[in-house]
Amino acid sequence: MNRIPIARPVFDEQDRAAVLKPLESGWVVQGPYVKQFEDRFSAFTGAPFSVATSSCTAALHIAVAALGLKPGDEVIVPAFTWVSTANVVEYLGAAPVFCDVDLATFNIDPDHIAALITPRTVGIIPVHLFGLCADMAPILKLARAHGLWVVEDAACGLGARYHGRHAGTMGDAGCFSFHPRKAITTGEGGMITTNREELDGLARSLRDHGASRSDRARHEGQDAFLLAEYDRLGFNYRLTDLQGALGCAQMDRLERILTERASLARRYDEILQDADWLEAPKAPDGHEHGYQAYVCLFRPETPTLRNADRLHRWRNDVMRKLEAAGIATRQGTHAPVRLGYYARKYGLKPEQFPRAYLADRLSLALPLFPRMTEAEQVTVAAELRRAFSTTIVGRL
Ligand SMILES: *Cc1c(COP(=O)(O)O)cnc(C)c1O
Repeated sequence: MNRIPIARPVFDEQDRAAVLKPLESGWVVQGPYVKQFEDRFSAFTGAPFSVATSSCTAALHIAVAALGLKPGDEVIVPAFTWVSTANVVEYLGAAPVFCDVDLATFNIDPDHIAALITPRTVGIIPVHLFGLCADMAPILKLARAHGLWVVEDAACGLGARYHGRHAGTMGDAGCFSFHPRKAITTGEGGMITTNREELDGLARSLRDHGASRSDRARHEGQDAFLLAEYDRLGFNYRLTDLQGALGCAQMDRLERILTERASLARRYDEILQDADWLEAPKAPDGHEHGYQAYVCLFRPETPTLRNADRLHRWRNDVMRKLEAAGIATRQGTHAPVRLGYYARKYGLKPEQFPRAYLADRLSLALPLFPRMTEAEQVTVAAELRRAFSTTIVGRL
């Protein structure tokens, strides 16, 4: 039997042709294709400005640096997210303050944010996890009331909408990822979106060593022999034009890719409807899910901190059996509060973030990728049921 992977990027003839073009022209670093990719990204999301970067982590790092994050500051981040959401705060010597999540959406729980705001708090980084927007209205309201900036970690957010607005266009900046696990990929790659012109300019400079103008502008302008000015400390977080060209080719298919992901998710919803031990992802009213991943909560019983370890072992048994049947599954993401670096540095305990802990222990992502067939989805569902029934025999 063929293995069913958790994700599989699909590259077509257009993609292959696209990456060859920069090789022919000889301009392979950030250049015209990166610019085109940025313009197309703005057109799709509705963000006035888009700045391509070498990854979403780089995008987040630039965004918080451009907003002036400094040592002693605090930034509120969800307790269940990919670790780089918190890491970029650490990079600048500031402290991430973790906020528990809502188990129904896996996103930051806005009701828990206010209690975490201190005189040191400067910003909030809500995450649109797995393609579902965080509940932005109360977050933006709190931010306005306390003078905080908001950077949306929209790494998984391409195609995600909140009351009609695309992810990454609601806060001061949004940051996207083009890692192969995301909806479109450039290998590694990222994008910063913003509606603030000065942040756009700062981000362009920071991704390019802090330069006052880009290499391309220098080569096309007068006195190309003169280097730019470097007034600020920047990074080399540029995307290559090979990746920019691939990004453009992927943008050509984006609508189709998103439609296909949504219909694969619909089919899982249907064929797993009666599996009441598995809570499927749901989009609350006003949300359009992008389905970067199809992440369920494994819940044969109502999960609590007391039964979490037992349910976690059962979930892992199920995942092991699926693996043996040739089906890849993953936990949704991890809770940085459990990871050695953060747990030790800030003395964090699972009891402080019970729902992030449960999400970490009990989330279960199913395979979802372009060109996945109905037969493959039916196999996943059948093997999932079989694995579950043999795992819980005599235990429930
Ligand atoms: C994938 C991901 C990132 C990191 O993206 P990279 O492009 O790999 O740096 C950050 N945050 C979240 C929520 C992610 O899912």
